[in-house]
Amino acid sequence: MNPLPPLARSVHTAYAKNALVRLPGSLGNVDASRMAIVFYCIGTLDLLGVLQDQTTEMERLSWRNWIWEQYAAGRYGTGFKPGPFMSTNSGHDTPHIIMTYTALLSLSMLRDDFSRLNRQGLLRFVASCQNSNGSFSNTPNGGGDSDLRNLYSAFSICSLLGDWSSIDVESAIAFVASCRTYEGGYGQLPSCEAQGGTTYLAIAALHLAPPGPRPRLSTAERARSEHWLVHSQDASGGFRGRTGKAPDACYCFWGGAALQILSAHDKINAYAFTEFIAACQFPYGGLAKAPGQPSDPHHTYLSLAAAAMYAPRLDMSARGYGQWDFAPFNPLLNAREDTIRWARSHIPARRF
Ligand SMILES: [Zn+2]
Repeated sequence: MNPLPPLARSVHTAYAKNALVRLPGSLGNVDASRMAIVFYCIGTLDLLGVLQDQTTEMERLSWRNWIWEQYAAGRYGTGFKPGPFMSTNSGHDTPHIIMTYTALLSLSMLRDDFSRLNRQGLLRFVASCQNSNGSFSNTPNGGGDSDLRNLYSAFSICSLLGDWSSIDVESAIAFVASCRTYEGGYGQLPSCEAQGGTTYLAIAALHLAPPGPRPRLSTAERARSEHWLVHSQDASGGFRGRTGKAPDACYCFWGGAALQILSAHDKINAYAFTEFIAACQFPYGGLAKAPGQPSDPHHTYLSLAAAAMYAPRLDMSARGYGQWDFAPFNPLLNAREDTIRWARSHIPARRF
């Protein structure tokens, strides 16, 4: 076994900080998902364990304030917009469900006290995104796409709030089941091809949901999903998003996290997995989808999150191990355990 290449922590830290500083001006063409980029960059600093001691109080305050500036209230309740562009262009302050999930986690990483959050408004917004077939749209009343990303975000928000009363959980579960394919994976929508990302979203949603009348997955279904996921790892150690495609670091997260949730993480090669991620490091900072490619915030965060789940399982005697050590990670909600604990103790309404 070759020694694991070192994790270049300081260049990845500089990369994420630089991307956050540049955000207000130069990322105009990706404005529609600016909140997601903020999440990936702050999340990268959180995973690297440098958010509290290698950023200033002023920086953290300005990031929290920027996120709260995207908080919008309307007839459909309250949530977060993707960025400032959306309101000036459309004339509406429409919250977006995926951006609301990423905003809540980012604020939790920044240890916000959530005193500005309207919990009832948030529940009303989540409910307004649910469609009659159980799926969720990304904006209220059937607006935008209605694939599993929105459903997963809705379930994550209800889980963080500890309140599922505003949505129809069983019809949502039936929608997830309708996206299942014969391979044991899940597609974006019913009768779509199985894909690693949506398979994670489906499996995580089924495990976030409160217990139902019967198990969310039968023993046979579990085994088939596990088999499909385990076989998504190819000889390089990386995961493919679809059968027959090239491995990609973000699928190391989607597939690796789904296997963690299914308690089947011991069935893949964690060393080759981490070695693939190590090879995706870009020399000037950040991580890429594959070795030799340029880095981006999305692949940087997801590949470090993947490493956070598998690297600590490596043989302690392996050279380079120490640099790959991470704080415990929550595969269901996609953040460090201590960040999730903060969210769970500050987001829900206090009940006396
Ligand atoms: Zn990717």
